[in-house]
Amino acid sequence: MGCVIEGKYCRLDYSHFPELHNRAGQLQEYFDIKYPRILELAQLSFRQRINISMKKDPNLDAASWDDNIKFNPDRVHVADKGFLIHEGTHVAQNFRQCSEWLMQAMAEYVRLKLGWDNPECLYDFRSSMICRSSGLHEQPSYWVWADFYKWLTERYTNKGDLLVDFTAALKKDPPDNEEGFLIEAFGKPSCQLWMEYVGVRLG
Ligand SMILES: [Zn+2]
Repeated sequence: MGCVIEGKYCRLDYSHFPELHNRAGQLQEYFDIKYPRILELAQLSFRQRINISMKKDPNLDAASWDDNIKFNPDRVHVADKGFLIHEGTHVAQNFRQCSEWLMQAMAEYVRLKLGWDNPECLYDFRSSMICRSSGLHEQPSYWVWADFYKWLTERYTNKGDLLVDFTAALKKDPPDNEEGFLIEAFGKPSCQLWMEYVGVRLG
């Protein structure tokens, strides 16, 4: 098996990019260090190794489904390994029903929480705040969603850990309604929490 690296938590296939052997090895090692920490943060158990593959797909940056992650190394910054934390959070949580903002917010929140290892890939966080007039569900920046989620987490401390409780609620079958969860936890729906966040953080 020339172009596959068998790791502990992942199996990384770089057949389409055999010249990227070193980068493949670095990413496999990084994932094997970070994935158990993602599981620990969300209090999830390890199910099976994740298949990570490098694809020559001009429309792909990085994506995940079930126990798979794929990415195009030509479109992911060479210094960026943290995208594997983002995608790793999606595969670890593996939600059937969850709104887009919440799913992306949690993935970016976990990436920030586990340490931003690639400072050269940081966007200007402040400039992404400019879109503050748009609503929660139209907000284009994952960073703002993650910061909103972090703000919610800070307000939840007397109840428990928001990531753990939200993950558990949304993994039930059928999953708890996320708006119901927010109302139960904070006494108001996401749109009101969002307006409050915008006022406090950006006002
Ligand atoms: Zn994502």
